[in-house]
Amino acid sequence: MKVTILGARGSIPTEGPEMLEFGGGTSCVLVESDDQAIFLDAGTGIINAPNVGDKEISILMTHPHLDHVLGLPFFPYIFEKGRKIGFYAGKNGILNTYEQLGTVFSNPLWPCRIEDYPSDITFHDAEFPLQIGGFTVTGIPSVHPGGGTVYRLEENGKSVIYATDYEYEEDKVGELIEFAKDCDLLFFDAQYTDEELDRRRGYGHSTVAQGLDVMKRSGTKNIRFVHHDPRHSDDFLRKMEADVKSEHVAFARKDEVIIL
Ligand SMILES: [Zn+2]
Ligand SMILES: [Zn+2]
Repeated sequence: MKVTILGARGSIPTEGPEMLEFGGGTSCVLVESDDQAIFLDAGTGIINAPNVGDKEISILMTHPHLDHVLGLPFFPYIFEKGRKIGFYAGKNGILNTYEQLGTVFSNPLWPCRIEDYPSDITFHDAEFPLQIGGFTVTGIPSVHPGGGTVYRLEENGKSVIYATDYEYEEDKVGELIEFAKDCDLLFFDAQYTDEELDRRRGYGHSTVAQGLDVMKRSGTKNIRFVHHDPRHSDDFLRKMEADVKSEHVAFARKDEVIIL
């Protein structure tokens, strides 16, 4: 299994010389096997998707907040005539997958609909477990305003959990810990410092210390912190990371490739 970080920024894309190392593109992680290319979220990071050849393409969306779908209209494969793309999301209130996207990509917010692009996108309401090629995909509800989905992808004995836009709450985190049990790689939302969290409870994001707690209690082998705050520069993030960095613990950087 090959995992590529395409977008590690949260909330809104950023740019500037102080944002180059961790990157300014928003949420997107690519998970590949020999014949599958599964994109987790379609934030602006997806615009720089690598060549995946003729692999079957799927996109799993955690939730339709702008920073998780904004890259979709410029996803290179969406312009490829007839290219099959399977788009999946959990139910979000009463909205199915197509309706969640349709509220963003339609007039007057956007000049055309996603299905107007040349590719052949199919929309699926994710019901777990879901089989995508050799991948078994499961999901649990996230703890986030408006809801969301935390995904677990398993293939060939390896597992990845994608838990972004997740707020650690004492009485709910047990479900995530159980879900992440013994996983090889956990992506965890650590947008805030401890001090920032005090001012932003209920915003739907967590901290490094909370991620390390989930890692320890679930037996997670490796963790990458994601959804970097748009106000946090490379320098700031490097300092946050220095307190916890190890062979198994790091902050997500754009273009990092992890082989499991
Ligand atoms: Zn987000
Ligand atoms: Zn969100």
